[in-house]
Amino acid sequence: MTRVVARARLQRALPSATGPELALVPESMAAAPHLEGRQPDLIVDATGRARHSSHVLDIPARVGPRKDVAHFAHFEGFRWDDEPGQVLIARRDAGWSWCIPLHERLSVGIVLGQDDAAQLGRSPEERLSAAVTKDPWLSSVVGSARRVTPVATYANYQLIAHRAVGPGWVAIGDAFGFVDPMLSPGVFLSLRSAELVADALTPMLARRTEASPARLAARLRSYGTAHGAALSAWLALVEQFYDGRVLALMRAGRDFMANGSGPVKNAVQRHIERHIGLQASGAGTTRRYSRALLQFLGRYGLRGVEPADYAIR
Ligand SMILES: Cc1cc2nc3c(=O)[nH]c(=O)nc-3n(C[C@H](O)[C@H](O)[C@H](O)COP(=O)(O)OP(=O)(O)OC[C@H]3O[C@@H](n4cnc5c(N)ncnc54)[C@H](O)[C@@H]3O)c2cc1C
Repeated sequence: MTRVVARARLQRALPSATGPELALVPESMAAAPHLEGRQPDLIVDATGRARHSSHVLDIPARVGPRKDVAHFAHFEGFRWDDEPGQVLIARRDAGWSWCIPLHERLSVGIVLGQDDAAQLGRSPEERLSAAVTKDPWLSSVVGSARRVTPVATYANYQLIAHRAVGPGWVAIGDAFGFVDPMLSPGVFLSLRSAELVADALTPMLARRTEASPARLAARLRSYGTAHGAALSAWLALVEQFYDGRVLALMRAGRDFMANGSGPVKNAVQRHIERHIGLQASGAGTTRRYSRALLQFLGRYGLRGVEPADYAIR
């Protein structure tokens, strides 16, 4: 294996019935002399939110309903009364916040609509600092902590490319789609997409089949469909957290159990919790039964609890 330290750039390949759809630009070819002037058999676009292949090929994307911005940084000297390693997220008047303990540091972030963010200040630093000061819980955790990284800003997530596979190329990770920081599925989904691509290609390597652009695309097509469905399922699940249905369901479940337990009640509650867990952990996000159960309960199982009271604005 040869390591190339350069930013790869792609262009549309010359139109041809059997050739690839994408090619490395001449400068990128020159930066990879081990290719000996021959374009790679397969281009794997792992450029994250830069989404290089989508941009070059003008592939449209399906965008989610939220237009949030996230500001976040790492802090040292924070106060932590919860379980070590426990990720905490909290609803705020506008949007939500996270605290993620990382050994000596704490990742603290706020996620909110662009207009609400503007009201907190002009710069990301001002906004994060104002959010901490105004929020009693965040203040109690990081009020006297020291920020040890610049404040990073991400916007415009919730986006899935209409196509992630073509002759001679495939997109993985965020280059295919990204859902939302809520529930933190990004790294899991990225690793999973790479795994699916590797699984799809392994039989070709084993059989030493010729890797023509069309044949590679044919092998990878099911990856595109399966991973696209996974991204869509995550988007739908995240939406149910934002619109308050999942939190209302959890509240209803707690109220249900507070009125006395019994073997049947316990089994029902365990069943529901298991399927919510399967979805939110990624182990069963695309499972039809789990998804249908959550949809059904979100409509008929709330026992008078109003989702709007738990929605994240
Ligand atoms: C606010 C926010 C919070 C998040 N929190 C979490 C979380 O708590 N847990 C979680 O699992 N996920 C989280 N995510 C999502 C997670 O960060 C991403 O899903 C994940 O990093 C995607 O991995 P990736 O390898 O596809 O892309 P990236 O991690 O973005 O990696 C892409 C790499 O490609 C490089 N690159 C780009 N263009 C080129 C080029 N032309 N040539 C060469 N290299 C190039 C980039 O420099 C970068 O290093 C969060 C996302 C957001 C927006």
